[in-house]
Amino acid sequence: MKFHVLTLFPEMIINGLSTSITGRAMEKEIISLDAVNIRDYTISKHKKVDDYPYGGGAGMLMQAQPVYDAHKAVCKGRNIRTVYVTPQGSVFNQKMAQEFAKEEELILLCGHYEGIDERVLEEVVTDYVSIGDYVLTGGELAAMVMIDAIARLVPGVLNNDVSAEFESFQDDLLEYPQYSRPEVWMDKAVPPVLLSGHHVNIEKWRLAQSIERTKERRPDLYERWLANHDQGSKSK
Ligand code: SAM
Repeated sequence: MKFHVLTLFPEMIINGLSTSITGRAMEKEIISLDAVNIRDYTISKHKKVDDYPYGGGAGMLMQAQPVYDAHKAVCKGRNIRTVYVTPQGSVFNQKMAQEFAKEEELILLCGHYEGIDERVLEEVVTDYVSIGDYVLTGGELAAMVMIDAIARLVPGVLNNDVSAEFESFQDDLLEYPQYSRPEVWMDKAVPPVLLSGHHVNIEKWRLAQSIERTKERRPDLYERWLANHDQGSKSK
């Protein structure tokens, strides 16, 4: 999968994603990351990319022209799904990560200052996505969050594809608690069922723990899970 990030700070994107799992996936060419500096596309003599907003108000706005030309240079006539990361978008979640992971290419557009001239957004953006209800100084961290979550769902990025299969948010449940060596640490023993080798009992225990944990920590998800499971049993 190819990620293109349109940004004023390409080094932030490259530095943020070149280590660990995403870095290895790039080395193995399972994913690629193209950080495009919007400033390279400005036609302004002084390399300016921002100006005052019409109508007044605090701060500067990124201008349409450099964003449009950077986007055009990446697309080269192709239609590529283009996400503007913005606090005004739908809130990113695992389902959206799964959907985006099906794309062969994805463009993420990062705003800065007070945002981007609306007219270019209307021209190039297909999806408006937020990473949560708070305001960041720029879109780069949001784009990195999204790329990390999407990339790990691309086949071959994780060593063991199974580890992306049974995780939090699958079926609206959080993952069960996990333990590694030693069997006893600070007087706390690993739950005996996990040492039993009895796979059916282990799966039952894990599901019960997932349900309990979701109910306690994310009642909103738990309610949704419950509703879907009630419907399932009614339709049987
Ligand atoms: N004035 C804008 C508003 O009120 O919606 C906020 C602009 S913010 C200071 C600058 C840039 O950071 C935005 O253009 C966007 O790309 C990014 N950004 C800020 N918060 C974000 C969030 N929660 N999710 C995704 N991107 C965000």
